[in-house]
Amino acid sequence: MLSLAVAALFLIVALLLALARSRRRLRAAERREAHYRALFERAPVMMHSVDRERRLLSVNDAWLATLGYTRAEVLGRDSSEFLTPESRRRALESVVPRFVREGSLRDVDYQMRTRSGEIIDVQLSAIWETDAEGRPLRTLSVLKDVTEARRLAQRMAHLAHHDALTGLPNRVLFQDRVQLACATAHSRGSRFAVVFMDLDHFKHVNDSLGHALGDQLLTTVSARLAGILRGGDTVCRLGGDEFVMLLPDLADAGPAGEVAERILDAVAQPCWLDGTEVRIGVSLGIALYPQDGEDPATLMKRADTAMYRAKREGRNRFHFHSLAFDHEASVRLQLEADLRRGLAEGRYRLHYQPVVEARSRQLVAVEALVRWDRDGHGLQGPASFIPVAEETGFIVPLGQWILRQACEQLRAWSLAGPAPISMAINVSPLQLVEPDFADRVAQTLQATGIEGAQLVFELTESALARDPQASRDALLRIKALGIRVAVDDFGTGHSSLAHLKRFPVDTLKIDRTFVRDLETDVDSREIVRAMLALAQSLHLQVVAEGVETEAQARLLGEMACPALQGFLFGRPVEPQAIGDRLRAQAGAAPSRPQARHGLPA
Ligand code: C2E
Ligand code: MG
Ligand code: MG
Repeated sequence: MLSLAVAALFLIVALLLALARSRRRLRAAERREAHYRALFERAPVMMHSVDRERRLLSVNDAWLATLGYTRAEVLGRDSSEFLTPESRRRALESVVPRFVREGSLRDVDYQMRTRSGEIIDVQLSAIWETDAEGRPLRTLSVLKDVTEARRLAQRMAHLAHHDALTGLPNRVLFQDRVQLACATAHSRGSRFAVVFMDLDHFKHVNDSLGHALGDQLLTTVSARLAGILRGGDTVCRLGGDEFVMLLPDLADAGPAGEVAERILDAVAQPCWLDGTEVRIGVSLGIALYPQDGEDPATLMKRADTAMYRAKREGRNRFHFHSLAFDHEASVRLQLEADLRRGLAEGRYRLHYQPVVEARSRQLVAVEALVRWDRDGHGLQGPASFIPVAEETGFIVPLGQWILRQACEQLRAWSLAGPAPISMAINVSPLQLVEPDFADRVAQTLQATGIEGAQLVFELTESALARDPQASRDALLRIKALGIRVAVDDFGTGHSSLAHLKRFPVDTLKIDRTFVRDLETDVDSREIVRAMLALAQSLHLQVVAEGVETEAQARLLGEMACPALQGFLFGRPVEPQAIGDRLRAQAGAAPSRPQARHGLPA
């Protein structure tokens, strides 16, 4: 009996103990569960779990905090909804099928969109949780937010390839791009240019204004450069005040020269640095692929050499390296650029050639003839640049300057005392047909205090014939200002009576080729005689050009040619010499009245 009771008690104790143990195990399991849940929910990386349809089963706090949602908003939604469209497409097309196949993923790069629309970079790793038979039930995914790290890496890469001050590409990146341009141009048979640029006297700015303002100037210049270049071009700061540009896909040297021109213009604009106006120039050198080099090092060296040449020749200009290839084109571009700069730099001069009355040989007029004091080339005659100036339209601004200068000179002579003479000015057909030509002329007359009657505009027959109607209209407006019109080089163009009658012409200038042969060639003599007769019947004035000998002057005198011009009476000279001559003439014959209009009536 006792032993039975003992056995029962023992059993109860054993049962109680077992119960207690199982309770302890349960509590331990619950604690473990709570621990893992906390681990999941509070881990400082984003985690989620999805079912086989990608529906979110659980997300942790970091996931919610990073993407800005509450748990209730996201559970049950397709996890791919939170990816950017590009990442989503990649996930559905390739990543998910691979995951199903392989059972795990490691460091897959995705971009996610936060609730506020911000894009973040993540790296996702995941495994499947399976049932007892090994069938996938749900995933456990960990997402590392690598946005900051990636930004930092990008910033490092940018710093490694860009200039810290201006943000422009640096030498390393530039060389890469030139390398690429070489390969592309080689396979396509295209051309490109490398342009070196260095600010003129930058050291002076730096020394006088300080480095901070020097830096500001560099930033301003680089912004202007960036504004000029096309989308595919690259501008890089090599360091200091040196920049280099890559201009891909050029048909020829022309556009490179144009870009250089624009850069010269843009940089020349004044900069305001801390209230101080700073003006700076640049020198540029251009090397072209393939003629100047077929690899980055050669091209950069050649562009640099060309730039030094620009510096040597006086700075604030550009130079092509090319001498062999496209020589013509580069010489021509250089000429065009130099021509324009010449105007800004005041490198043009007017010389004046006397026109005398045939009988008295008194100075009655001068013809203004332009010269160009071109850097490194000496004084250039008009034959070397007027044709280019006409082709490029530069003759229009140049002609304005010539007119203004000639009028100012005329005014200066008359203020100095001598009696007024006429001023003959050569006018290009391009100027004549500018819509506002007559207005500008009127303004110049007004500004300089010169009367129209003191001027003669010289135009060639071929110039008038180019656009007869527009020329006639323009001439009528010019004549309304009192200005007379002369046909220059008469006899060399398509001389036609119709033209002479049609245009309001006052004077014929017999071309010097007829005068040259007067003594030896009967035809020339007959032609000149006929021209004089024609002029008389049309009531036109005549000037014979190119009179070099006494014999020519005598023959012309015998034919009653009223006015003569040529080396015999004076070469084109500086204004001072004309002033002296006018004073001498006035002193020698003080009572002789000068013809009002310069040419004897
Ligand atoms: P043009 O208007 O017929 O000017 C006369 C040219 O003949 C000048 O040459 C002058 O130096 C030259 N000449 C004058 N007398 C003699 C002489 O006795 N013998 C010889 N062999 N030559 C003589 P330049 O200054 O070289 O001018 C050449 C041309 O350039 C001018 O011919 C004119 O067509 C053009 N030109 C000159 N200045 C201007 C200008 O300001 N504007 C424009 N649009 N054209 C100009
Ligand atoms: Mg002339
Ligand atoms: Mg002439």
